[in-house]
Amino acid sequence: MQFSELKNFLKQHKLRVTDCRLDVLQLFKSKKHALTSRVLEDELTGYDRVTLFRTLNTFIEAGIVHKIPDDSGVARYGVCDSKCDAEAHHHDHVHFKCDECGNVDCLPTHHVPRIEIPGYIIKDSNMILNGLCRACNG
Ligand SMILES: [Zn+2]
Ligand SMILES: [Zn+2]
Ligand SMILES: [Zn+2]
Repeated sequence: MQFSELKNFLKQHKLRVTDCRLDVLQLFKSKKHALTSRVLEDELTGYDRVTLFRTLNTFIEAGIVHKIPDDSGVARYGVCDSKCDAEAHHHDHVHFKCDECGNVDCLPTHHVPRIEIPGYIIKDSNMILNGLCRACNG
């Protein structure tokens, strides 16, 4: 993604453009997999942990990235599709976790099946599939 595109992207989400936001956004857009905050810290050493964490939270609130539920205790973040904004996140896509390399991918074109259970109000649903990713099963 071009620098000017990144700037416009932030503006579209009503965010002030800062160097840290541009760098974090660039990193998210350049990676095929979901990112952990550890990866952010390792790749963007010019910023302290607090600044990166704050930027991450700003992006979650703005509907740019979402936290991926994971039982490993390591929080991972994936890029949202264009339907998300500061009002709400709108996605029900499936996530895939690779047993071999440990990468987690968003699968935006695959949706969690809608389930109706009488007497229950379902607000959110998550599905993590696991197995071998494309890179690991070749
Ligand atoms: Zn979202
Ligand atoms: Zn893999
Ligand atoms: Zn996702």
